[in-house]
Amino acid sequence: MNFEKELRVRPGKRVKLSRYDAADTFGYEKGPESKKLVEKAVARLDELQDVFYAENKRAVLIVLQGMDASGKDGTIRHVMSGVNPQGCNVTPFKVPSHTEAQHDYLWRAHLAVPERGQIEIFNRSYYEDVLVVRVHKLVPEEIWKKRFEQINNFEAMLADNNVKILKFFLHISKDEQKRRFAQRLNDPAHQWKLSPADFAERKYWDDYVEAYEAVLTKCNTDIAPWHIVPANHKWFRNLAVSRIIARTVEGFHSKYPKPSFDFSHYKLK
Ligand code: AMP
Ligand code: MG
Repeated sequence: MNFEKELRVRPGKRVKLSRYDAADTFGYEKGPESKKLVEKAVARLDELQDVFYAENKRAVLIVLQGMDASGKDGTIRHVMSGVNPQGCNVTPFKVPSHTEAQHDYLWRAHLAVPERGQIEIFNRSYYEDVLVVRVHKLVPEEIWKKRFEQINNFEAMLADNNVKILKFFLHISKDEQKRRFAQRLNDPAHQWKLSPADFAERKYWDDYVEAYEAVLTKCNTDIAPWHIVPANHKWFRNLAVSRIIARTVEGFHSKYPKPSFDFSHYKLK
């Protein structure tokens, strides 16, 4: 079944997250078969990246967003596990540094936009400037309200300059977040990931849902579509994201460039 298309939000659609089941697996089941499918997609992406890199014609920008513990880090670890590190990069978006805060909110994002031949992952992104910034009223409403259009224009400009943008919202339920926080509390290998802020942010769950619904509705275009990925099940999340990226790069039909000079005069001794 082609679930990739179903995950893509239709431009113009008004998104209500309560209508999306975070535990959906589109008929797939956990097990060796689905594991194989992820491995296949990851291996395929590695092959495709090689020629995409060599062709050096366009770039891919992957935007990953989601509530705390929605699995952004895990997605990056699994989905990019097969690809050549020389052709990809990850940029995390944290609370803006002093220098970043001295600039407009898109400045740090633009600096990290990939060059041709590269796959770039934004772990969070400029969307934080209409999410956390809105929820915590870090700037007045009249400022953040204008940003939806500014972001659409920014993305359109990048698309016109050969940057393919893919956006993923990792959708977990509030219960699943609780389960993951509890797990992190008990596991020394994961405790470092928890911060007091996580507990504080959980109280704003409904405000974040509202802010995300605005993003998924207003900043969803043909050239930079959002995908709502059911992410309660990590294996399905990995399958969905890896397949969508692989299919997208496949769609470029990249070709190895022709040699720039005539090798017939060269003799290997
Ligand atoms: P993490 O992704 O867990 O490392 O956390 C990064 C934190 O930085 C999150 O709590 C984000 O909400 C926060 N953050 C990212 N961008 C911004 C921004 N533009 N303004 C304020 N906080 C931000
Ligand atoms: Mg966090």
